[in-house]
Amino acid sequence: MSTIIYPSPIFGPVHSRRLGISLGINLLPADGKICTFDCIYCECGYNAQRHTSSPHPPRALVAEKLEEKLKEMKANSYAPDVLTFAGNGEPTSHPHFYEIIQDTISLRNIYCPTAKISVLSNSTFIHRPKVHEALRMVDNNILKLDTINTEWIKKVDRPTAPSYNVKKIIENMKAFKGKLIIQTMFLKGYNDQGENITNTSETFVKPWLEAVEAIAPKEVMIYTIERETPASHLRKASHEELDAICERVKSLGIACQASY
Ligand code: SF4
Repeated sequence: MSTIIYPSPIFGPVHSRRLGISLGINLLPADGKICTFDCIYCECGYNAQRHTSSPHPPRALVAEKLEEKLKEMKANSYAPDVLTFAGNGEPTSHPHFYEIIQDTISLRNIYCPTAKISVLSNSTFIHRPKVHEALRMVDNNILKLDTINTEWIKKVDRPTAPSYNVKKIIENMKAFKGKLIIQTMFLKGYNDQGENITNTSETFVKPWLEAVEAIAPKEVMIYTIERETPASHLRKASHEELDAICERVKSLGIACQASY
């Protein structure tokens, strides 16, 4: 297994399949992972293998390092297309997420006004008013909804809180009133317990589409595994499968892009 842990608080820029030239902002520690999910496909590895007791990087440090990097990029005439909150876990778990979003918007406006701000979140904190408000301020509020099947979620996304309730997540997604992008992982194969976790079949796709229609996001991004995963028996969904799902989303009048 060779999963990745990202530098913190700034990494890249990297060329993202979905987002273009992306400067990463990692609000988690540099020496491990902190996430409210423990996805078997997580490119950072399983939570238990990446345990850390280090704190989140302080707000002031995030702003300082971001400004330093944006100055350097500007001096080299290399502007980011997007500032992406991602990295070693769940960005909205940072106690000063709201303030950091405010700082990032200010710095973006100074150094790279055309760059978008994206947040990749697993949606577990979107019920918190401050997190909701912060996510409404960014250009791309990208929220994970891999399925609505509770058993699958327990086997694959593996929320760390027993209170996780996908129905509540869907209701909280609706509260964004279209100002969100749904991100969904489609994959095939088996988890470490030998259970089939393929979610490309009609059993999974149809109810997921119904939920997507009810949430009415401005866009859907579907993707499949790209790098090594902690569970070793996972396979990519095929181009054809992703394209077919993409077309079904589009037929609902919702923009959709697939990354293979
Ligand atoms: S939500 Fe993202 S960071 Fe968290 S375990 Fe899943 S893939 Fe990894």
